[in-house]
Amino acid sequence: MKNKKKSALKQTEGVSNSEIINNNFVSNFKSKQSKTINPETLVKGILNKNISYLSRAITLIESSNPKHQDYANTVLKSCLPYANKSIRIGITGVPGVGKSTFIEVFGKHLTALGKRVAVLAIDPSSSLTKGSILGDKTRMETLAKDENAYIRPSASGDSLGGVARKTRETIILCEAAGFDVILIETVGVGQSEIAVHSMVDFFLLLKLAGAGDELQGIKRGIIEMADAIAINKADGNTLEAAKLAKVEFNRALHLYPQKTSGWTPKVTLCSALKNEGIIEIWEMISEYIKLAKGTSYFDKRRHKQNTYWLHKTIENRLKSDFFNQPKVKVALQEQLKRIENNETTPFAAAEYILSLNKTL
Ligand code: GDP
Repeated sequence: MKNKKKSALKQTEGVSNSEIINNNFVSNFKSKQSKTINPETLVKGILNKNISYLSRAITLIESSNPKHQDYANTVLKSCLPYANKSIRIGITGVPGVGKSTFIEVFGKHLTALGKRVAVLAIDPSSSLTKGSILGDKTRMETLAKDENAYIRPSASGDSLGGVARKTRETIILCEAAGFDVILIETVGVGQSEIAVHSMVDFFLLLKLAGAGDELQGIKRGIIEMADAIAINKADGNTLEAAKLAKVEFNRALHLYPQKTSGWTPKVTLCSALKNEGIIEIWEMISEYIKLAKGTSYFDKRRHKQNTYWLHKTIENRLKSDFFNQPKVKVALQEQLKRIENNETTPFAAAEYILSLNKTL
């Protein structure tokens, strides 16, 4: 098997054998393109809107092999000048609220308007349990068949930070591949919507009528982050409840401080199932984008997000580098025991462990 792989690798130019040992990568290149594949070719393919090249580059971003990451960084760097031109929309809501049904009709509406749409997902469950509740292609069958749409299942990873990084980088590649709108889906139950909020221009919260916030697992902070709340399933015998919920949310939103964008978050009704209220949601987002671009808030928000991710990445790296040091691992255990035996306090123990860093 090893030899087989090696011979396949020899056919690829510009990339050393060690650079491409990832199974997925190898089989992709083996089956779909027997010859040349180097970063320049890959970039050219992406800029030419070649979806198979785009997928390969994303696979490289998702690889944990440092060599692949180097390769991916080269590709990313070349794509950066072509990025930044899309509208990035975050969509969140608890499981069952209708996210995939919504994205399906919303995406179809956008492609009908001549836009190219990419759908990405940040799925906290995939980093915790390796299972995936989002981004599954079969959830959006019609959109998946649309040649102007691209659905990428959620990246998996050890941490939400890792998954978020991969998604941020995937956005850059999708933008270089000429996607006009990027939809980033997440489940509104934890930290992942903070990650999504820090990478999108517009944050849409899907809600259900008739269920309290606790029932829906939505925290106050998420409502505060939302640029709009769409109450889905506003149809059949839940229509009246949805109308009532709209009034309540409108009232509740007034209690939050005014957004720095100058935008007043909107509450709207929709039925993803019946394809109602969808056009209006796109019109509302377009109105927001116009306003935000007019006041240059749009660029400011992206700038702020870049600052956030720069700091966050350094923080994450420092943290993992620190905790992965063998001396620190041992000291942590020792100090924990000492705390339990009342020989030291957590604060003194922390000072001691931190001081180890200087002597390493
Ligand atoms: P997700 O888990 O948030 O992605 O939710 P799904 O899109 O899978 O939808 C969950 C269920 O709600 C499915 O059975 C959908 O058919 C249904 N559903 C989604 N949108 C609507 C809607 O607007 N009206 C009604 N009545 N049902 C809907």
